Amino acid sequence: MNADRQPAACPLPVETTDVVTLAHGEGGRLSRQLIRERIVSQFGSSREAMADAADIGTVDGSLAMTTDSFVVSPLFFPGGDIGSLAVYGTANDLAVSGARPLWLTLSLIIEEGFSLQTLDRVIESVRQAAALCEISVVAGDTKVVPVGAADGLFINTAGVGRFLEPRMSGLGGIEAGDAILVSGPIGKHGMAVMSSREGFGFTPPLQSDSAPLQKRTASLQESLGEDLVTMRDATRGGVAAVLHEWAEASGMTMRLKESAVPVTPDVRGASELLGLDPLYVANEGTFVAVVRPDGIERALDSLRTEGHELAAVIGTVVDTMNTAVVIERMLGTLHPLDEPAGAPLPRIC
Ligand code: MG
Repeated sequence: MNADRQPAACPLPVETTDVVTLAHGEGGRLSRQLIRERIVSQFGSSREAMADAADIGTVDGSLAMTTDSFVVSPLFFPGGDIGSLAVYGTANDLAVSGARPLWLTLSLIIEEGFSLQTLDRVIESVRQAAALCEISVVAGDTKVVPVGAADGLFINTAGVGRFLEPRMSGLGGIEAGDAILVSGPIGKHGMAVMSSREGFGFTPPLQSDSAPLQKRTASLQESLGEDLVTMRDATRGGVAAVLHEWAEASGMTMRLKESAVPVTPDVRGASELLGLDPLYVANEGTFVAVVRPDGIERALDSLRTEGHELAAVIGTVVDTMNTAVVIERMLGTLHPLDEPAGAPLPRIC
């Protein structure tokens, strides 16, 4: 059993319990207390906060909407936790779509017996991450399920943002000759969560790259204009999964150069130990972009100014070679880079 959970023996007396009980999810006084005192109070409470829907007003421009679920294990890992991950993960999907994140909803599915103190830590982490992303948590829900029906805590989110102009041309705009850029070293999140879960005890511990991307993506959009074709955060399946999606959508081949792919020595060491290719390992604060050749220098300048010193051109889009993604390995030989079939690392986000 997870250390964050304690067995829920007798459900009474519930008023003084230090764990979440089924009564907290029944919609009565305890539910209201839990939601009002531990959650809503962290996000600027108002009388409307307990209403059935939030009034988010009117917006000029086109809206972007996304949804995501977070089931990461363990809930706390070096460089982040499920709370900040839920906020950044959702905001980043809006950011790489070319939108400024504005609103977030938060649904918690809590296993009976989950520590209230741990819940407070997660909510505090959500609050801090939302402040950093300048995103408002406008609605939420809480459900409690019996022991064994969930693993501690799952979070589901929805995010809404406003598209920034000019819009990127997107997947349909990918052309032969375009450059493929990565914003920083890859594989950090997946390796950090995996090492933490399995107790590998690397010293110092591998750190996740979990972080908000919207400042970087917005600066990139501003400095590149139409030379920025598309962006994607390289989460599950890593950079390899993104490149396969782009190859399928464009009908072109993504040609990578292994020696150009930034990987930190600690991630490289851990990957070799575990027999994993960092190209398949998840990132939570690193994205891939397709850029017209004229935009390459401006893109690298923009990313490096935003603290991404290791941003790099890792490949080129070429006319189809009958293989979706090919990689020039260190020795100069060309190999297909297979599409990840399943998740090599389960429950990393
Ligand atoms: Mg994404």
